Amino acid sequence: MNFSRKNRPYFIQQIASRPFDLLIIGGGITGCGMALDAALRGLKVALVEKEDFASGTSSRSTKLIHGGLRYLKQLELSLVHHTGRERAVVYKNARHLVIPEKMLLPIVEGGSLGKQAVSAALLAYDFLAGIRRKEHRRMLDKKQAAAAEPLLRTDILKGGGLYYEYRTDDARLTIEIAKSAYKEGALLLNYIEVVDFRYDDKNQINGVIAKDTLTGECVSIHATVVVNATGPWVDLLRQKDNSLYGKRLQLTKGVHIVIPFDKLPLQQAVYFDTGDGRMIFAIPRGHKTYIGTTDTVYNQDINRPTCDKKDAQYLLDAVNSTFNIIPLKLQDIESSWAGLRPLIFEEGKSPADISRKDEIIESPTGLISIAGGKLTGYRLMAEKAVNRAVLKSGGLFKDCSTRSYRLSGGDFNSDADLKKSLDGFIAIGMEKALPIDLICNWFYRYGKNTEILLRDDASPEEAEFRYCLDHEMVTHLSDYLIRRTGKLYFDRIKSEILIDKIAETMRREFSISNEIIVKMKTETVEQYQLAVRFVNS
Ligand code: FAD
Repeated sequence: MNFSRKNRPYFIQQIASRPFDLLIIGGGITGCGMALDAALRGLKVALVEKEDFASGTSSRSTKLIHGGLRYLKQLELSLVHHTGRERAVVYKNARHLVIPEKMLLPIVEGGSLGKQAVSAALLAYDFLAGIRRKEHRRMLDKKQAAAAEPLLRTDILKGGGLYYEYRTDDARLTIEIAKSAYKEGALLLNYIEVVDFRYDDKNQINGVIAKDTLTGECVSIHATVVVNATGPWVDLLRQKDNSLYGKRLQLTKGVHIVIPFDKLPLQQAVYFDTGDGRMIFAIPRGHKTYIGTTDTVYNQDINRPTCDKKDAQYLLDAVNSTFNIIPLKLQDIESSWAGLRPLIFEEGKSPADISRKDEIIESPTGLISIAGGKLTGYRLMAEKAVNRAVLKSGGLFKDCSTRSYRLSGGDFNSDADLKKSLDGFIAIGMEKALPIDLICNWFYRYGKNTEILLRDDASPEEAEFRYCLDHEMVTHLSDYLIRRTGKLYFDRIKSEILIDKIAETMRREFSISNEIIVKMKTETVEQYQLAVRFVNS
């Protein structure tokens, strides 16, 4: 049965009628990672997500799979060691989505980093994170650094360090994990919100009451163990469970802005000093360059964090003082996004200094909450949380096997195998007169599943949409435009044109009423307006 909205009534009936070993609340990368791990171990597992998979922090990151070079400064050696090593695991699990990206760290006059410090930090990073030999750091003199990125201001440039990070698409990585979990037997539903907990006569959690946000109907779900993997919302659920004491979250906001590539035509990704002790990334991606991020304490609405003028101006100022370009203005920003880091509060520490470590907290009622961490370390976090759930359930299950599991679309043995597969798809595409860059886009989005899109004789646009409808649980218009394809942020004009067309297909395909379609369109346009708010500023 396809992972499609078409089967939603059946899935809802299933989730309400059978008991689960494990129920996960939250369909970000942490929750989906747990669902896959648990399903592979043989647990009966269900996951519910109140909006779309990855609609929280997991689609709003810097989109890097990295060990966190900057954590060396805080002497978080163990964090760099573990996330660094996980980087290699995530890469092998989904080569189509985790792409090596050379990163240049410029050394400038008056900057916070000197040549020796950069050299030592990158050397330590190579060692701790277990970086492959061919990707070891290389120090550059001024001439070499200027050649690596000609837009850097040569009047202040002193040299640089080249090292490797991995670029990803956070929302796509999450959806590939969700698809894999579904394939392995987990039941995952988006647009289902947990509104209350159920307890047995010993006041131990044994399930939840959840609301279908599309229909307003509530279902009761039974489970031996319930895990709260709701990222920035973790404390809200702990509050509902009357167990919000001891450790708490500290949310910090980080924003990104997207600029047309021709206004900041970087030859390669750069990780640079902002002058106030922070570091930010400027990363070319297709016809755009994106820049981020900020790190400020956040106490407002968790559901819709936005990039405000002050955030955007901060990033523009940093870029304008680093690169030799016509200064960028607010109107140059094509789109933006903002995300919330679910960090564990530490007394007296500034947002940037709070550890990115993950933490598992168990309440007296048995609710297991997991928060903190990084996209990069999701698999390890999931492994730890599932270990805890297995222990609590008292059941006998297999060991964790996600380390060597190839995610949906990512079944490649090596880089050479990936290249061979891409070449094969390009050849099929050429026979069908499809442009090479379209095939490459599909390949780096859907990996081996590109084959399914290529088998479809409809127009490329229709074939892609159909694949997402049939296999990626697109339930709302914005699921497709924002999280399955990233078109809203990186292909704004096309997404404007597509809204009506895909709304009509969804109306027909899923027999959705006109009233709901209008509501979906309004909600999508609202999200769109938030993303493009600076265009006419
Ligand atoms: P989320 O993705 O937020 O998922 C939680 C989900 O729970 C949400 O989808 C939400 O809708 C759902 N939910 C909430 N309440 C309920 C309810 N009642 N019922 C059902 N569902 C509910 N990490 C990296 O490794 N690399 C990076 O480059 C990087 N950059 C970052 C940049 C920024 C600006 C930020 C903010 C973070 C960055 N991170 C990065 C960290 C990383 O993005 C997060 O650690 C990770 O995405 C957290 O995932 P999560 O699943 O725990 O939370």
